[in-house]
Amino acid sequence: MNTSQTPTCGQHRVPKEWRQTTFEYQEDGVSIRVPGVHAWVCPLDNEASFTSETVDELIVTVRELIGPAKRARARHSLVTEYIVKTG
Ligand SMILES: [Zn+2]
Repeated sequence: MNTSQTPTCGQHRVPKEWRQTTFEYQEDGVSIRVPGVHAWVCPLDNEASFTSETVDELIVTVRELIGPAKRARARHSLVTEYIVKTG
């Protein structure tokens, strides 16, 4: 795989930009946002294409976080948003 090649947005026919964006995932009323993730982003509509390596990492992270978040929602926790940092 040639990672130095810049992908083009299929919809707008413009080259995408390699920059940080926020990954968002929603399931059963619980949303998980992961800011600061690098992806190929269309400069016109900000649609992000994550690399397969990044997606693998994000899936693991989301899977680990969604359980506790859903349990908090089920018990109607007063705390509805958390920010977790590892670096
Ligand atoms: Zn586009």
